Amino acid sequence: MLLALKDVSKSYTTSEGPIQVLRGVSLSLDAGENAALTGESGSGKSTLLHIVGGLDTADSGTVHLDGRDIAGMDDQQLAELRRGTVGLVFQQFNLIPSLDVAANLAFQARLAGRHDERWAAMLAERLGLSQLLKRYPEQLSGGQQQRVAIGRTLAARPKIILADEPTGNLDEATGDAVLDLMLGLQAETGAALLMVTHSARLAARFGRRFHLTGGKLA
Ligand code: ADP
Ligand code: MG
Repeated sequence: MLLALKDVSKSYTTSEGPIQVLRGVSLSLDAGENAALTGESGSGKSTLLHIVGGLDTADSGTVHLDGRDIAGMDDQQLAELRRGTVGLVFQQFNLIPSLDVAANLAFQARLAGRHDERWAAMLAERLGLSQLLKRYPEQLSGGQQQRVAIGRTLAARPKIILADEPTGNLDEATGDAVLDLMLGLQAETGAALLMVTHSARLAARFGRRFHLTGGKLA
């Protein structure tokens, strides 16, 4: 099992007191599987994704990623995990404005020590970015920027892609095209994909669906 969460709970302290966001979430995902995570705004979808990606920690429960318990990892190990095993894609594309498309595409793979010119060129081709390699992020449409963000993530060959509403800033047609590319590349690379979406229509396209409500998965 590539990803296994067991009884994960998480609360936050706010000025109005503590709020319990996750109340014993268990979930598992194999390599090559894709799953949609749905739930109302504020239901804890991002929190769950951040815990899986090592950006936040659970209060209790266990998270095994690629056979390792990430709860026991120190900051350096978590940083390594984020560079290597996990690939993150967000609603905000988070490209580096001072780098052109080619350099943005290579950035994470270089950090992970896995930059491969041919793989990067293949991804650029598949994502329709080959003619845009010398452009800067501000010279791209939203859909193009998100394709760069996906390529940058896949260039490092993550075992699991965690995507938080990656089509949330895109119009429907562009979002559909971006999702097609993501699902296609996920299947080809054999990575697992866990994607947050509030769209039931998009969720229907995934092999598995999890719905977060009342702090638990249904
Ligand atoms: P979703 O992604 O499903 O919209 P989130 O995981 O972002 O939900 O948030 C779940 C709940 O936790 C919300 O009520 C949100 O306000 C709260 N929350 C999220 N992050 C924090 C934080 N760092 N500190 C305090 N409360 C937070
Ligand atoms: Mg969210």
